[in-house]
Amino acid sequence: FSTSSTLRVSGQVGKYKGSPNPSTGRFTVPFIEGDGVGPEISKSVKDIFKAAQVPVDWEYCDVSPLLINGLTTIPEPAVQQINKHKIALKGPLATPIGKGHRSLNLTLRKTFGLFANVRPARSIRGYETTYKNVDLVLIRENTEGEYSGIEHVVAPGVVQSIKLITRDASERVIRYAYEYARAIGRPRLVVVHKSTIQKLADGLFVNIAKELAPEFPDIKLETELIDNTVLNVVRDPPSYTDAVTVCPNLYGDILSDLNSGLSAGSLGLTPSANIGNEVSIFEAVHGSAPDIAGQNKANPTALLLSSCMMLNYMGLESYSNKIENAILNTIASGSENRTGDLAGTATTSSFTESVIKNL
Ligand code: NAD
Repeated sequence: FSTSSTLRVSGQVGKYKGSPNPSTGRFTVPFIEGDGVGPEISKSVKDIFKAAQVPVDWEYCDVSPLLINGLTTIPEPAVQQINKHKIALKGPLATPIGKGHRSLNLTLRKTFGLFANVRPARSIRGYETTYKNVDLVLIRENTEGEYSGIEHVVAPGVVQSIKLITRDASERVIRYAYEYARAIGRPRLVVVHKSTIQKLADGLFVNIAKELAPEFPDIKLETELIDNTVLNVVRDPPSYTDAVTVCPNLYGDILSDLNSGLSAGSLGLTPSANIGNEVSIFEAVHGSAPDIAGQNKANPTALLLSSCMMLNYMGLESYSNKIENAILNTIASGSENRTGDLAGTATTSSFTESVIKNL
């Protein structure tokens, strides 16, 4: 079991551009605490960072949406705050289904050009699930595809939803995926697609991966149809342990939840990074969990591991390793120290206290 290889976030593309305060040596990170369970799991991160003496000062960041000409926008003070510090940690944001403002998550990705979504999914030591030794890394294109938000009513009963794929966005994310594979020492890049049907859109994505291959002679490029990938991942998840997977937006969204389910059996454990050229935002994969909000039941691990990815990205690996080890030791130490999603009896706050004791 490796503790941190897949939580590393590196590569030549999208390097951390922020810097610490020259007089204190401390970093400032805007914190979007989010909706539902967001404030509870955010408190856990803040308490653990304080106890671990991480040189990070949090700055409250309010991204409550503004509707301008019917479009969701992020308030200007929040945009300036995130642009200034080049980084943010983010709790889950609720999105109304089928009406109201456009997804704030999507708006954040577009506003800050967060082109690559890195989603590692690993078996958790001491917490047995059906599949063992799962260690998957998926990189999802984060700005376009079916998430371009271009939909029309063509005629009554007929709607059109446009999947947009561009050379620029595809090249950025595929190059990042090659570099990521190299940085974490994985020799294979698997491009997941459906170019048998989406010949132009997915065809472009696959062709760009082939065009970039000569720049990465140490990484073996493989292409795989999404239906084959789903079958292979379920049949034999460890067969992807030497690979990084990269895919267009919607496939990546769905496949990464499958990976989370196979590795840990719970969304409460899966972290992610949204990488841009100037700014990067780190967040849990799960949503606002309205069914358990305000009940001290949420598992803060996914947001905590996202904050560990963030620390690695900022060059603060020693703090990241310390916190990650404390989390994994706490989870492995028995069901009384695990939250309900992991068949345990701990509350958010008692789990947090146990992690602090294990630092
Ligand atoms: P969800 O991830 O919020 O919840 C799915 C299930 O997982 C629920 O049973 C929930 O209780 C459980 N769960 C999630 N996080 C958990 C945690 N930390 N600890 C324990 N259990 C946890 O998904 P949903 O219900 O489909 O979505 C709820 C809202 O969140 C929606 O408005 C959706 O748009 C939003 N959402 C936001 C993000 C994001 O901000 N990145 C991601 C996904 C969904």
